[in-house]
Amino acid sequence: MSQTAKKKNVRWVEEPELGFWESTFVPAIMQGLKTTLKHVVDRKPVTQQYPEVKPELPLHYRGVHRLNRDEKDRVKCVACMMCATACPANCITIEAQAAPPEWPDRDKFPKSFVLDELRCIYCGMCEEACPVDAIELTHIYDLTGESRSDLLYDREKLLGVYDRTRNDARDPVRTRRGVLGPASEFQQLPALGPATGVPQSDRSAKAETAGVIRTTGVEGQR
Ligand code: SF4
Ligand code: SF4
Repeated sequence: MSQTAKKKNVRWVEEPELGFWESTFVPAIMQGLKTTLKHVVDRKPVTQQYPEVKPELPLHYRGVHRLNRDEKDRVKCVACMMCATACPANCITIEAQAAPPEWPDRDKFPKSFVLDELRCIYCGMCEEACPVDAIELTHIYDLTGESRSDLLYDREKLLGVYDRTRNDARDPVRTRRGVLGPASEFQQLPALGPATGVPQSDRSAKAETAGVIRTTGVEGQR
């Protein structure tokens, strides 16, 4: 920026001179009182009478976690540890176990899954990191316990939150691929991700939905 342009953008503010009236501070006090009176007269009360009146939370409110179940009522989690790795508060502890032979759609499942709800900062990073939409945060905000250990939510308790909230319109079950999470559909997925089938020269490639890429360039419609 040139020196002239820089000077043009500078606005000098001179300190106003106080006259006799201003130096008594009466105008400033009157102005302050006017603002206070305006709030007393105009403003509706904003205090909510909780717990008699429950708050209306936004749909993206992040409360107590749940572990989702798949269509066979199994825990959807595949014990990949992504959530525990992403968690900035280090409050998820998972012990993985090899999946039984009758579960060919996964290698592992969580033998134990413990989430410390007191330590959690409800940032939602675990939800974002989970590749199979197994962990989600719900609208539940009023969790209580008589001891610290009551708020260490284990696998059964987290599955219990799912059972409580699965039919609640505030907590729709979210999946990014079909009815099930991608891990459950592992056998049906192509060996390579769809992006690998698009030549580098084709700049028109666009992901329309998860797993579907459309191109209109050199390769034509896929
Ligand atoms: S919401 Fe954030 S802090 Fe809480 S468990 Fe998930 S990643 Fe950790
Ligand atoms: S990221 Fe999802 S699948 Fe992986 S361990 Fe966490 S909850 Fe389970």
